[in-house]
Amino acid sequence: MKSRLDPRTPLLEGRDGPPFEAVNVDGGSNVVIVCDHASHRVPRRLGTLGLGEPRLRGHIGWDPGAAAVARHLSTELDAPLVSSGFSRLVIDCNRPLRSEQSIAEESDGVCIAGNRGLSPEERRVRADALFHPYHDAIARVLDRRTGRPTVLLSIHSFTPVLSGHARPWNVGVSSRRERRLASLLVAELRADRDGLTVGDNEPYAIDDDLDYTIPAHAEARGLPSALIEIRQDGIEKPADARAWAERLAEAVRRTKMS
Ligand SMILES: [Zn+2]
Repeated sequence: MKSRLDPRTPLLEGRDGPPFEAVNVDGGSNVVIVCDHASHRVPRRLGTLGLGEPRLRGHIGWDPGAAAVARHLSTELDAPLVSSGFSRLVIDCNRPLRSEQSIAEESDGVCIAGNRGLSPEERRVRADALFHPYHDAIARVLDRRTGRPTVLLSIHSFTPVLSGHARPWNVGVSSRRERRLASLLVAELRADRDGLTVGDNEPYAIDDDLDYTIPAHAEARGLPSALIEIRQDGIEKPADARAWAERLAEAVRRTKMS
């Protein structure tokens, strides 16, 4: 099942599409939005990584609903958005390249056969084709805003059940160095009329071994940031994703940091 690559041949073919999508890069908002796990696509040269299509389209392959929320939020706020173009299972754009989970050999109990026993060269090919172009695109968006107030919002979704454990939060907001934006967002979301259960650094906290985007782009530049995780069953339907984006946009506006 494993796809051996000739490292001299580019990973992406024309039909694969680009490694990232950047929209509204000159948007007027102070907010820049990123979506690390926006897609479940796999480059054709890698087949299906040894997985069935339903697995790739499940939560281990991407963050279902997150791309739709991010896109609507970009429109609502007039904010730039950079989204990754390929599955986190090919290479995870929110893991440091040194992390064992950068190219996961297993995810939520599922063996990823196409990721087993990769050579350093094969790993480099994936990083060069997907990871670096995505992060270079985020850096370019931030570079052209130098001198303007800017906050970074990273949009994710999480599975309602992980390793057999049900997770109670409707949404989680994570932050580390610069806590003000996240604290304000937690307060706004907790005040929502729907009585949301809001995690503060839950279900995930920012971690140097497991996170790349917030440390590399926001913390390194001293920018306020928040990583927002929405439970996937709340954004599966397009109308629900739109409603969540509108709710987030309202919460972000009320922080007065947008
Ligand atoms: Zn994610």
